Amino acid sequence: MSILLKNYISGSWQESSSSVTETVYNPANDGVLAQVPLSTRKDLDEAVQAAKAAFLPWKNTPVQKRARILFKYQQLLVEAWDELAALITRENGKSQQDAYMEVQRGVECVEFAAGIPSLMMGQITPDVGTGVETTMLRYPIGVVGGITPFNFPMMVPCWMFPMAIACGNTFILKPSERTPLLANRLAELFTEAGLPDGVFNIVHGAREVVNGILEHPEIKAVSFVGSQPVAEYVYKTAAQHGKRVQALAGAKNHSIVMPDADEELTVKSIIESAFGSAGERCMACSVVVLVGGDRDDLKQRLIDAADRLQIGNGEDKETELGPLIRQSHKDRTLDYLSSGEQEGAVLLRDGRKDGAASGAGYFLGPTVFDEVTPAMKIWQDEIFAPVLSIMQADSLEEAIAIANRSSFANGACIYTGQLAAVRQFREEIDAGMLGVNIGVPAPTALFPFSGYKNSFYGDLHVNGKDGLEFYTRKKVMTVKA
Ligand code: NAD
Repeated sequence: MSILLKNYISGSWQESSSSVTETVYNPANDGVLAQVPLSTRKDLDEAVQAAKAAFLPWKNTPVQKRARILFKYQQLLVEAWDELAALITRENGKSQQDAYMEVQRGVECVEFAAGIPSLMMGQITPDVGTGVETTMLRYPIGVVGGITPFNFPMMVPCWMFPMAIACGNTFILKPSERTPLLANRLAELFTEAGLPDGVFNIVHGAREVVNGILEHPEIKAVSFVGSQPVAEYVYKTAAQHGKRVQALAGAKNHSIVMPDADEELTVKSIIESAFGSAGERCMACSVVVLVGGDRDDLKQRLIDAADRLQIGNGEDKETELGPLIRQSHKDRTLDYLSSGEQEGAVLLRDGRKDGAASGAGYFLGPTVFDEVTPAMKIWQDEIFAPVLSIMQADSLEEAIAIANRSSFANGACIYTGQLAAVRQFREEIDAGMLGVNIGVPAPTALFPFSGYKNSFYGDLHVNGKDGLEFYTRKKVMTVKA
């Protein structure tokens, strides 16, 4: 009998009113970890009422006191680091190293949010007119909802709730139904740190809870991270219901390799970026554009490095490439491999032939296509798996033009030692997060995180001062003495 997860409402674990559940699998061995309830709007409403009741007392809690709870939370998360990383690996499948780094990224969000006393400070200009001064003050907005994907069960929720709560809001998280376990631990530890009941609530589920969040009149803002079609739907629906919304979506990140690139660093970074976390990262490199003539040597080095990757259960210390999240996602990826072959791409490395791909768990070895073109589906769509496409360009201009044709614009990288190329790349590439000689240029919590085009719907990104702006509203008061 696997455990049935409960919702976390007003500081206590509550059974969902729904009898419908979904099974949570360990993707490395197809074992059953838990059952997650697909909660109802009634469950959500209970959480909203709890969050609403907790809002005023929390908003009125002095900002230093709120910060102190975040400091304590940071300490508890650091103490639980290994436990949290192990849980991430169990429910998501990623390697120990990737899970460990994910905890770090989550902790960094809490650390940034703990600086809330100075972030919340207002502004004053004493002489906007004769004897007239204007003051700007910052306030929380109320009950806020967060909807998160499976691929970062700790980091992505931490992009949202620590800053929202630090600002004085109360929060309802709807974690991914495929990786719901970690969220419960995050809630327990926050309560242990001294967070009052009702400030952070979790309602497990899927579409019904999401639609409830988008439509509930008491929820003032929605943060979403997930796939493109759902992000677009969330953005439009939440906006129709008068909410502030930020919706981060899918990606197709290009890495441009200039002729002068340091080959060893380039190969290492691309392999880590394309195949780390089984390619299930919104900042994964999924397309390499090689600039200049014959690059067969570099391609061979990429294949050799891919051959050396240890595929297996992330719980094994040596594992570098874990499983995909579900069999259905693996099947979808296999369809893309067939489509790439049919459309004429050259399969340089076939991950279907790796031993682990035929055992228990949802494994697929690193797969590399060459001679990919913009006409192919494997270039147009986000595959979100360990599948790398290689393209060729005669110049940096052509490489940038290829990347800019993508409907996505999340991240992009360049490998080169030439400053002029870096500058041209920075000015002309259409993507939100750029990397130079680095595989995964994911900004830390201090900076805004997101992209443009089909990779983002909204205005303010997550993290950094954008996060503060998203979760606060301002009053501006002008006084004549
Ligand atoms: P997903 O869109 O399937 O699910 C995300 C959330 O939306 C989940 O909580 C899920 O329950 C909910 N949901 C799914 N379908 C829904 C529907 N029809 N109606 C209402 N709610 C629905 O995404 P995923 O597969 O969990 O995550 C992977 C995706 O997330 C990838 O596309 C990846 O690029 C993206 N992602 C983007 C970023 C970023 O920063 N841009 C970061 C991480 C992940």
